[in-house]
Amino acid sequence: MPSRLTRSSTPTSGGTRLHHDTEPLRVLLLDLDGVLVDTRPVMESAWRQVREDHSLDVPFEEYERHLGRPFADIMEQLGLADVEPIHQTYSKASTAASHLARQFDGVAEVLHAFAIADWRLGIVTSKPLDRATPLLAQLGVPFATVRTPSGVGRGKPAPDPILLALIDLGADPADALYVGDMAVDQEAARRAGVSYVHAGWGYGTPSSPAPVVAESPKDLLRLVDTGPFLEGSLL
Ligand SMILES: [Mg+2]
Repeated sequence: MPSRLTRSSTPTSGGTRLHHDTEPLRVLLLDLDGVLVDTRPVMESAWRQVREDHSLDVPFEEYERHLGRPFADIMEQLGLADVEPIHQTYSKASTAASHLARQFDGVAEVLHAFAIADWRLGIVTSKPLDRATPLLAQLGVPFATVRTPSGVGRGKPAPDPILLALIDLGADPADALYVGDMAVDQEAARRAGVSYVHAGWGYGTPSSPAPVVAESPKDLLRLVDTGPFLEGSLL
């Protein structure tokens, strides 16, 4: 039987997998872009529009390195000023290209499996709420909280949105797991005191210490104890 990721009373060993002892974790918080939905074509298209409209000589690859942070923070990282008009262009172009977004294989099924196993699900994303909502609605999964930069607090890699999601759910950090795909996600989880699993199918690479890596959405079910769920029984 594979090791499961459950509430840990011991530090990580070997840096690749968390060990367990007692009860399973029960709060699953997830990033959106690069974890649930492949929005890279949307972002690429929107950034192309930004470059055109604002005569910016910043390739998408450079923008992409900072994904996971709120848009204004990415602009700051890129040394760009006068952010508001750029954000407006980006936002409008993203909405226009939203049809290019695709769920990663197995995401909806896996999230339903967690929900049926009585996990509470939440989203912690740096995507603004108005663009996150239609993508989340397509998944058809009951999210108990959605935290975006529209709320109070600092954005990732600060722990604020994860902590706020836990407050929404009345949950302790020790009972939660965050799944992200960028080093800023890993940092936010660490600073919030929640366990972290890296989505290996996403856009970024994790930093050290090496986190647990899920190879696919379905791999999350292997790593995490979802209780009496029999894989394949839901469809
Ligand atoms: Mg992401």
